[in-house]
Formats: sequence, C-alpha cells, structure tokens
Amino acid sequence: MATTTPRMKITYATLSADNEELQAAYDHAVDEARAMLGRSYPMLIGAEERTGDEWFEDRSPNDADIVVSRFPVGTRQDVRDAIDAARAAFPAWRDLGWRRRLELLRRAAETISERQFLYAALMSFEVGKTRLEALGDVEETADLIRYYGDTMEANDGFVKPMGSLSPEEHTRSILKPHGVWAVISPFNFPMALSGGPAAGALLAGNTVVMKPSSDAPLMGYLFAKVLLEAGVPAGVVNLVTGPGETVGAELEENPGVDGMVFTGSYEVGMRLYKHFTRDYPRPIITEMGGKNPAIVTRNADLDEAAEGVMRSAFGFDGQKCSANSRVYVDAAVADQFTAKLAERAKAITVGDPTRRETWMGPVINERALEKFTTAVEEARRDGGRILAGGEVLRDGATGRGYFPTPTVVAGLPLDHRLFRDELFVPFVVVGEVDSLDEAIAEANGTPYGLTAGIFTRDRAEAERFLDRIEAGVVYVNRRAGATTGAWPGIQSFGGWKGSGSSGKNGLGPYYVQQFLREQSQTVMGDEPPDA
Ligand code: NAD
Repeated sequence: MATTTPRMKITYATLSADNEELQAAYDHAVDEARAMLGRSYPMLIGAEERTGDEWFEDRSPNDADIVVSRFPVGTRQDVRDAIDAARAAFPAWRDLGWRRRLELLRRAAETISERQFLYAALMSFEVGKTRLEALGDVEETADLIRYYGDTMEANDGFVKPMGSLSPEEHTRSILKPHGVWAVISPFNFPMALSGGPAAGALLAGNTVVMKPSSDAPLMGYLFAKVLLEAGVPAGVVNLVTGPGETVGAELEENPGVDGMVFTGSYEVGMRLYKHFTRDYPRPIITEMGGKNPAIVTRNADLDEAAEGVMRSAFGFDGQKCSANSRVYVDAAVADQFTAKLAERAKAITVGDPTRRETWMGPVINERALEKFTTAVEEARRDGGRILAGGEVLRDGATGRGYFPTPTVVAGLPLDHRLFRDELFVPFVVVGEVDSLDEAIAEANGTPYGLTAGIFTRDRAEAERFLDRIEAGVVYVNRRAGATTGAWPGIQSFGGWKGSGSSGKNGLGPYYVQQFLREQSQTVMGDEPPDA
C-alpha cells in the first residue's frame, strides 16, 4: 500500500496544487488503485469477516463498465448480529477510558493520512471525485478524528466538578456513553461522513454499527479496517453493507440501538427522525440536505463573487450538501455577474476525475443524471435562459459514465421549483432582486438552512446578512467557495431547520457531547474516585 506522506495539506478551499510531487504521488496511486478494482470485500461483524449468498456491485460513475468493488447484500439478521456484537463489546470499550480510546483513534488518523493518496485514488474511482476533492475528503477524515479527540482532551473527558452546599458533599457532572450507535452515511463524502460521525461516537465510548452508502461502500469499509488495524477491538466497530430499506430499516427499528447518527437526504433523514423514537426516547442526529443560497449585492466584487459561486456550485458536480444552487443578485449588476459566472462555467474541464486537468467529473449515477436532464428541460419549458451547460457528454469514454456540464440558468421566477428543491447536480439558478432585504427573505424562504454566502464590500450589508440569515454555516466574500469548504476545527458544519436536527454542528466544539448523556454524581463524605 502507498504510504507517501503529503507535503501539503489539501483542504476543500485549496485553490490549486502546483506541487509536482503531490501530483505524481496521486498519479502513482491511481495505478495502484486500478490494480485493486473489482475485488470482493466482506462485512465486519464482531470478529467475523462475513460474506453472504448475495452480492452487489459498486460500479464507477466514471465508466459503468468498471466494477470498483463487490460487497455482500446484508440482511436484517446480519444487522442483528452486528448490534449484538456491538453490545457485547460496549462495556470493555467504555471502561477502557477516554485517554486510551483517544490513543487508538489518533493512531488510526495517522494511518489514514499516510494512505491519503491510495484512498483518494480509490475514491476517485468509487464516487468520481477529482484528485483535490478526494485528497481533501481523506485528510478531512483524519482531521475529524484529531479534532474530536482534541475536544475530549480539552474537556478532560467531560468530568466537571460542580458546586457544593456543604463541606461533606462532593458533586460532579459526568458525560457518559449511551451504548451502541448506528452510523448511516451518504455517498458524497464517503470517508469523512462515515469516519467523522463514527469517530465522535467511539471517542465518547460508544460502539458502532456502520452502514455506508451502497454507492460508496469501499470507503466506509477501508475506514473501519483502519480502526481495527490501529487496535480498536473487534465488535467495537461493525460494518453492514446493503440497502437502506432493509439494513438501514433494521438499524432504525432494533431496540438494541441506543443512538443514531444519519447523514443524507431530507426524505430519509426525516423518516428516521420521526420513527427512531417511536417507542421511547433515543438520541438521533440527522444531518440533511440543503438548497444553499448566495447573495450578490451591487457592492460586490463581481469577479470574486463569480469565482466563489462557480467553485461552490460546480465543485464535485454540485453534489456537496453545502453546494451553492441558487443565487440572488441585485438587478443593477445582474447582467455583469451572470456573464462572468457563465464564462467561468464554460471554462470548466469536465471528464475523467483521475486526470490532472479535470476540474469536474461525473455525477454519482444514472438517477442523478436524469435529475439533471429533467431540470434542464423544465428550465427551458418555463422560460429560463441556459447561459452555460445544459448538456450531457456522451462521446467516447464519457458516454459510459454520467457527465453533465456545469449549468447556469437565469430568468426563472423566484418561486420556481428549481429555486426550492435540492437537485444535487451541477445546476445553479440565478434570480434578480431589488434589495438585500428581498434577497435575505428569499434565501430564508425554504425549509432548508444549511449554508449560505454573501458577496459585498459594504460592511453594514454583511452584518445585516449575518444577523438575519437562517443557516448553520455562513460565509462572507469567500472566493474559495461561496457556501462550501468547511474544515474540522475551522468551520463547524451543520444545518438549521430542515437541514439538521441537533443545532450542534459537526466539525465543531459541541459535536462529541451529542454522543454522551449526563449523570450528576453527589457523594457524601469522601471525594469520589477518578472517573
Ligand atoms: P440518501 O438519503 O439517499 O442516503 C443516505 C444513507 O441512508 C445511505 O446509506 C442509504 O442507504 C441510507 N438509507 C436509505 N434509505 C434508508 C432507510 N429507509 N432507512 C435507513 N437508511 C436508509 O442520501 P445520499 O444520496 O447518499 O446523499 C446525498 C444527500 O445527503 C443530500 O441530500 C445531501 O445534501 C445530504 N448530505 C448532507 C450533509 C450534511 O452534513 N447536512 C452532508 C452530506 C450529504
């Protein structure tokens, strides 16, 4: 396996990587990854590597002829066994203590960073991420572990001495783990959003049953294997692959699951949110979709705005939960802004994401491509002007993958569906407004509230935006991405309203606490022993 250490930290806000060594290391890793394609992998249930009677193929969106991996179609019984294994492993993992857990997880983070190139290359095959996006995803996974570990340390394992009403009374507040957590992950940050939530749960002392997306099972599997390699005991981390309707549903229904962390669409997340607590209270964190707005005022630097919107609307094909998919621009500068945005969109190189010159690869599957073509037809039908894109590449090798072109649409009414529904494809709608207040009202006018951005050189405008915008992650004048590019320990990341259930962001200082429950301990006489 490649163990080349990167000499430059790649984040989602990295604008370019003119680092030949880094490029060569990735190219080398692509060859290595190619040699690994088509392998079969097991599920991880307790100490067992379990296969099964039925398998599914994980095919590449770059070229549907490429089978990236094969995984078992897990059954409800597999999930029950994984939950049993996680329950059996819980007491010892809890009692190991947070410092020792932290050591093991930090070791895993180092291994992930060391294998950054190989994992990124495999990810480029599995979900179609370009090299910079894939390298970012892998390194984010390692940094999530590190940051959540730092949170445990900064809070001394969440044992806090409290006040006392008499000299004989000693009281402390302790946060304790719940038991078994289900971790259900989406395809789009396949390692970071399997790894980050699992790391939060594990550092807190819970055990986990992971269910990765069937469009990206390999990344979830590799993450779980790294933990086991680092010395995390069998049963503490379990992984069951297969459909949401059976594997996911069993995790939702089984009373042996004490908590759930889900990242994915609003539809699935809301369903889980409503049903998971049907019989009794259990914590559930749902991180869901977005329809993230950018506002461009007449006081904006229009080049900066066009660049920031372009990067956020089309980075990873608009398939980031934080993707910028609608823009409200002051009518006074609308023509200038849209011309600059369209020019940048047309200049994007679309193609095989493993190639250096490619800036945008494919969407994840045929269904996503259909969403794109339907949106384009709808925009045309309803009087929208397609200023860039609107096409699908079908020549040569691209015809075997799912390659839409970056699309900019103007001229639709602001209440059109395309300003409201999350599409998760490279498609941005631009609407004209007459004032900042109108822009903010439109921006807040959807059930979502994940990310948002504004471009203005007027401080008062920026402040009004920051005061009134309803979103968990907001940016002002961000050329590197109008609404995208959060990094652990820098921008905490989570949704308000229909975008997230907890009001506490991932990547931030209040995340790990969500996997813990509080106990107040009052001991009369002697001081209580160390927690
Ligand atoms: P998805 O909702 O289709 O799937 C997410 C996971 O849920 C998958 O593992 C899937 O198999 C599972 N699932 C499906 N049906 C289920 C069921 N009935 N019970 C239990 N599990 C079930 O989402 P996706 O297409 O993989 O990811 C894209 C979505 O995720 C977008 O909406 C995006 O905005 C959102 N997302 C949100 C965040 C965030 O932090 N808020 C981050 C990334 C992605």
